[in-house]
Amino acid sequence: MAPLSPSSLNRNLAGQPPSATLAINERSNELIRQGRRIFKFGLGQSPFPVPPMVVAALQAAAHEKDYLPARGLPALREAVADYLQRRQGLRRAAQQVIVGPGSKELMFLLQLAFAGELLLPSPSWVSYAPQARLLGRQTTWLPTDLAQDYKLQPGTLDAHCAAAPAAPRLLILNYPNNPTGVSYTDAELAALGAAARRHNVLVLADEIYGDLDHAGAAPSIARHYPEGTVVSTGLSKWCGAGGWRLGVFSFPPELEWLAAALAVAATETFTAVSAPIQHAAVCAFRGGTEIERYLTHCRTILRTLGSHGRQTLEQAGGRLPRLDGGFYLFPDFSSLRETLGGRGLVDSPALVEKLLEETGVATLPGTAFGRPPGELTLRLSYVNFDGAAALRAAESGEVIDGAFLWRHCADSVEAFARMARWFRPS
Ligand code: PLP
Repeated sequence: MAPLSPSSLNRNLAGQPPSATLAINERSNELIRQGRRIFKFGLGQSPFPVPPMVVAALQAAAHEKDYLPARGLPALREAVADYLQRRQGLRRAAQQVIVGPGSKELMFLLQLAFAGELLLPSPSWVSYAPQARLLGRQTTWLPTDLAQDYKLQPGTLDAHCAAAPAAPRLLILNYPNNPTGVSYTDAELAALGAAARRHNVLVLADEIYGDLDHAGAAPSIARHYPEGTVVSTGLSKWCGAGGWRLGVFSFPPELEWLAAALAVAATETFTAVSAPIQHAAVCAFRGGTEIERYLTHCRTILRTLGSHGRQTLEQAGGRLPRLDGGFYLFPDFSSLRETLGGRGLVDSPALVEKLLEETGVATLPGTAFGRPPGELTLRLSYVNFDGAAALRAAESGEVIDGAFLWRHCADSVEAFARMARWFRPS
């Protein structure tokens, strides 16, 4: 009998590297252990604590011990449907809401259930394409342009779909966007929704950063293409609860067949999300004045710090798209190609490595998000500060301005300054 060996590995997994985000975090921790000062602009985690009333709801639900229905706690699914109605004017039935252990897991199950080509605007978040690869599915990267803030254009979707009109396709559209920080206007979403409808493309609207739109706006493509759009959100970003692992999908009635398939996959894999977490999530999605106040402060801090970073990097020679929401910046340093090339830095992975080595600032290369290797783009998750302290200061009435950033987000400000000095040594 042959001994157990890697030759028995599913070939979709063979050679698959670990997630780029986790890899940079491990490398940063290693340098920290060596005594280096590291500015963690790599991992995309909210710096803010979970709102106290949501924490209290979790404490109160600690005794909940029963398995819950695979689609989720009915009260939570109601709260999510109300949330979508309140935030975006979407009419979604609670019956077609599915709760999962993070939206990432639900995305994997959606890709498992829907046999089609995956379409991703370049750049897109790091995990969509690897999930497709794990499932043996094909990914097509749709080009975008920095001059158009990396937004997918309806004509690009038309051109791609025209080649094989009958092919089933899934487009994942994420706004505010990780990695770019860009959102679409309502008019742009209307045009994209119309294009998706023309080609019967299934759309997954990844709105996990929706409540972190810096202006508090929340247009959704589901308003324009309701019958073909699954909306995804969760507690990880706006509620600061990434480690709680709770994500939700909402389906239109026309896609009940898909929701039902996901529910079956749920019963055969994770069974149901942890009961106490689901009970606490009811409180988060119901919202109220305390959560609104929390979100207003989070957005203002993120907007002020992000604008400062954007400006600093622009002055250092970076080109950046507009900043609408979330906590990421995506500068392109291609204008410094000659100088950087002279230092042997001709692609984004080399740039990231050298930047980390020489400044201590940990970032991710544009290649991790589907950008071409020769392009000198980086993703910065600019939230390297004590969010609890910053939030307390904002709540006590401190004005959120440049001086606030120096007092409460000093490591992020320092990291931007180090990058600027490195790219443009005087
Ligand atoms: N979508 C985007 C764009 C993200 O950045 C993330 C997390 O980093 C996720 C989805 C997954 O979030 P979760 O699985 O925590 O709900």
